[in-house]
Formats: sequence, C-alpha cells, structure tokens
Amino acid sequence: MTDTFGRAHTYLRISLTERCNLRCTYCMPEEGVLLSPKSNLMTYEEIYYIAKTFVNQGVTKIRLTGGEPLIRKDIPIILEKLSSLPVELSITTNAVIVEKFIDTLKVNGIQSINVSLDSLDKEKFKQITRRNDFEKVYKNILLLVKNGFKVKINTVLIKGFNDNEIIDLVQFTKDLPVTIRFIEFMPFDGNKWDMKKMVSYDEIMKKLNSFYSEKLIERLEDAPNDTSKNYRIKDYKGTFAVISSVTNPFCDSCNRLRLTANGQLKNCLFSATESDLLTTLRAGKPIEPIIEKALQAKFKVRGGMDTLEKLKQPKLHSNNRSMITIGG
Ligand code: SF4
Repeated sequence: MTDTFGRAHTYLRISLTERCNLRCTYCMPEEGVLLSPKSNLMTYEEIYYIAKTFVNQGVTKIRLTGGEPLIRKDIPIILEKLSSLPVELSITTNAVIVEKFIDTLKVNGIQSINVSLDSLDKEKFKQITRRNDFEKVYKNILLLVKNGFKVKINTVLIKGFNDNEIIDLVQFTKDLPVTIRFIEFMPFDGNKWDMKKMVSYDEIMKKLNSFYSEKLIERLEDAPNDTSKNYRIKDYKGTFAVISSVTNPFCDSCNRLRLTANGQLKNCLFSATESDLLTTLRAGKPIEPIIEKALQAKFKVRGGMDTLEKLKQPKLHSNNRSMITIGG
C-alpha cells in the first residue's frame, strides 16, 4: 500500500464510535455532532473483515480510537477478534473507565495505551472536558503504569489555557515512566481553531530550554514514521515529545490511514475527501480497489494544505470532520 510519494502505509487507525463520555472543547463542537444512524456504523464483524483486508495489504499496526472506544458495548469482542490478526494492536482512550478493562486489554495483547489528558489541574480539566472526571483519569493513569502498560499522555496545548503547565507536565515524567506528548492545536470542524491559540514546537522547546537548560534535555532517536520528536530530561524515568503538525508537519514519513466508525477511509487526518468502504462491503463488492484509489489520491502534505497559509484558511480546514468523528 504505497502512495504516489513512495510512502508505505502500514498503520491503520480505526475509530470504533462517534460517541464519548467527555466533551473536550478542541474535539467535540459545542453544539455536539450529528451522530450517524446505528445502521450506518460498522458492526464488529465488518470491523474485523475490513481490518483483515488491510492486514493482507500490508498493515502491521492497528490503533483503536473513538470518540471513546471503551464505551462501545462490544469492545471485548472487537479486541478479541482483532488480536487474532498479526498486528501490533494499541488503543487511545480518555481513561475515564479504563480500570474496568485492564484484564481484557492484557488478554488481547495490548501493551501500548495513549491517554488524553490536557491538564493536571482539576478545574481546568473540568473546563476543557466539560466533565468532572480528573481524579478518575489521574488514578487510572497510575493504574495503567502499575500494570506495565506503555503509557503515552496526549496533551493538546492551548495558549492562555494550559501552556503554563508545560513544566509541570514534564516534571510528571521525573518519577513516572510515561511519555508526555505535547500536541500543537490543529484545526478541525467546529473547534474554533485560531493560529493565535496554538503553542508551537519552538515555543514549547524555548520554555523547556530556559527552565531545564539545553544540556539537561536529551534528544532521543525517533522511531521510523514517528509523528513526534522525542526528548528526555536527564535521569528522568519518563520522556516527553512534541507533535507539530501545524508548524513542522511530518508527512514525509506518513504511514497512516484512518477508518471512521461509519466505514469511511480517510487517506489523511486533514483530508476532506473520504472513500466509502462500508457501502461497498455491504454490496458484496471488493474493497481493495477503493483502498488503492484512495492511496493514489493522497496528497503529500496535510490533505493538500501544504502551506501554513492554506492551513489557516477556514474554508479549507473546516471542510473536514470534527475530531470526535475521526479519532485523531
Ligand atoms: S497530516 Fe496527513 S499526510 Fe501528514 S502525517 Fe498526518 S495523516 Fe500523514
């Protein structure tokens, strides 16, 4: 599954649901989202079939996302079926109810878990998620670490909101073997994005260099296809990273495709166009040609928004779904 720029696509992100038990302001539009009718959502059999087709095409890694994937009732069946495939299976969760799934995740070979947490401040957590679940999430992060999961914490930085917590969040990695990943705020439908609200990679590093001094900040080797630039404060148990899709896109080594909960293939996080796999599958027709066509149509950078000027244009960036229905 190689696109016209020679990028081999080996990583499929599957959004299992459009629903979530949090209401994060940069993900879920204030007015909510129009949910797809249940009949338009992939069943677990269809998820398994489509995933297997991608694996036969060369996918070696599958990440489950949402909305919040753990609120899907048949998640244990989905995990069981997908864990039978020869892939590295992982999940992104907001960790509000993850304590109920520790054994299920372990039994199905999940080792890497990404948790969304944008603040270590209970009140700010409530403000950005519109829910009062900070303690549960915090406790569950410690529980995941205690159970040996590889935990990455995704933090979307928003200027004037949580950018004053950058140091506290990196300090969190002093005694805890987790990776804090700072994410540049990205434009999606309904999230009121504004370049002025975004905290850039340079601003993050400037803040950290002035607090820790450059000699204490180790640059780590990034994994192939890595979306993040990785660092460690000398002698800290954990690490931190920056995902800079806005100021420093990493599309050259992109190996990612996305499947939405209603069976649409997105060849890029920012792509406005989608390919309908589910209707084709339900019509009993092969989906491989659709996948190939979508791959050949993939833009080099950010769904065609290859410059910051283009990314800033609302008519371009809001021509996409809201993040809640993509799954990051
Ligand atoms: S913006 Fe699109 S092309 Fe670039 S890394 Fe993300 S998914 Fe890949």
